[in-house]
Amino acid sequence: MPIVWSETHREHRPEGEVWVGVRIAGTEHPERVDRILASLAGTGASAVREPESRPADALERVHSPELLEYLAGAWKGWQESGHEDDPGQDRVVPYLFPTEGLLDGLPPADPFSAAARAGRFTYDTMTLIGPGTWEAARAAAESALTAADLVLEGAPAAYACCRPPGHHATRGAIGGSCYLNNSALAAARLGDSGRGPVAIIDIDAHHGNGSQSIFYEDPSVLTASLHVDPGHGWFPHFLGFADETGSGAGTGANRNLPLLPGSGDDDWLAGVTSLVEWAEAGGARSLVIALGVDAAHHDPESPLEVTIDGYREAGRLLGNMGLPTVIAQEGGYDLDNIGPLVKETLLGFESAV
Ligand SMILES: [Zn+2]
Repeated sequence: MPIVWSETHREHRPEGEVWVGVRIAGTEHPERVDRILASLAGTGASAVREPESRPADALERVHSPELLEYLAGAWKGWQESGHEDDPGQDRVVPYLFPTEGLLDGLPPADPFSAAARAGRFTYDTMTLIGPGTWEAARAAAESALTAADLVLEGAPAAYACCRPPGHHATRGAIGGSCYLNNSALAAARLGDSGRGPVAIIDIDAHHGNGSQSIFYEDPSVLTASLHVDPGHGWFPHFLGFADETGSGAGTGANRNLPLLPGSGDDDWLAGVTSLVEWAEAGGARSLVIALGVDAAHHDPESPLEVTIDGYREAGRLLGNMGLPTVIAQEGGYDLDNIGPLVKETLLGFESAV
């Protein structure tokens, strides 16, 4: 299986996140990718390649031009605002959000201040922007697009080792440590090239709210997510429930399967099986696996208890679909285990094809 990744991911160093008002260490570190690649190095995965660069408008397929323009200039705008010295904040952090409660039906103005602009394009305080964030996010997106092209050229599957992850990024906003929606870009590329309907099966521990919202009215992308129940106090809290099934022409093309905290292999693999059957019933002709390995036991970001054998079995179940497949890296924050978890999932996938 070809592997696509870019050294440019290292340029993104969030150096923490602001959670409940406090800057904490965070878990989305550059070492995550080092650990994954170190594990894959021993598998005969020799076809490691750099992504091909794309024009900026390739990203407009799933993101608004306004968001892309903001991301390209956000760090420079922050520097010019002087906030690195006053009050001493070395990353872009929003402070005011244009929620419905503020606007009460009126359209938001285009704000002048860098901190307010950040609030317009960011829905949480955890997704920090620094020097190199835009370049790294773009390289991750290009990795997903390059993996999709490899599949279109005939590879049965390709793995995009994306960092930063992407599935929480919506059409017009960043959040959840995600900036550009890598999985959604790969799905759109497959679908636009005659491989639709495309299924996105998201097995990250958290709801893939960005992918859901991007394709919510689109019947050509079957968007499915298996995740810890946000109703039990987990990100993204406001979305990810079973009654979100798509709207308009996309009614019925979205599926959420929330799991109770503490769920292990049995419940999780039953969920994977259910999503596979749902995608097959919907006539999927290609597949994007949003591969988060943070549902694993010991991961600091979720209360799910999936074992490494469970991940391998999930890979097998997904490979058994026999579809052209892009596997895009999403979450996974346990540095001791992220590499073996990804490796076993990919080996499980390859055992089936
Ligand atoms: Zn996650």
